[in-house]
Amino acid sequence: MTADPSGSFDDSASLGGVHIKYLYHCPRQLWLYSRGYRPEQGNDLVAFGEVVDATTYTRRRDIDLGEAKIDWVTTGAVVHETKSSRVPSSAHAAQVRHYCLLLERRGITVRSGVVHYPLIRRTTDILWNAQARAEAHAAEDEARAVIAHGSVPPRLERNSCRGCSYIDYCWGE
Ligand code: SF4
Repeated sequence: MTADPSGSFDDSASLGGVHIKYLYHCPRQLWLYSRGYRPEQGNDLVAFGEVVDATTYTRRRDIDLGEAKIDWVTTGAVVHETKSSRVPSSAHAAQVRHYCLLLERRGITVRSGVVHYPLIRRTTDILWNAQARAEAHAAEDEARAVIAHGSVPPRLERNSCRGCSYIDYCWGE
């Protein structure tokens, strides 16, 4: 599928966790994703992540907010997200903060978040307070600014693209 640089997007549409994750990974990826480019469907690494997610906590149930699917929420409310990565990243934390914000907008009192890394048996606690809320709002603003840009953002350095499912589009591989 080819991304259409002139493709339209709904500026008022809610942003999902994937938008925030891509914002932190690569603005170009976010821009392309917002215009319907979806090479991650069928990508081996993405499929691996989905398998890890589906098999690690088999009794948990996704919470589907429409624009975002939260792995699960425990009493409190505490937002949980599972990652197949072996390296905790700021993008994962930002994604969980975004979920906290989406829940809060629905009138839910959110306590905090947790990112689970089953492959390295680690968890990272994510605070939900005034600063985290401000960061979540800032990430949304930044994502909307990237999406609204009139042309595709530049590529990252080649070595930062390793494993990215958009590599065919960006580098013609
Ligand atoms: S291949 Fe590189 S430049 Fe292209 S979307 Fe992925 S990380 Fe960004």
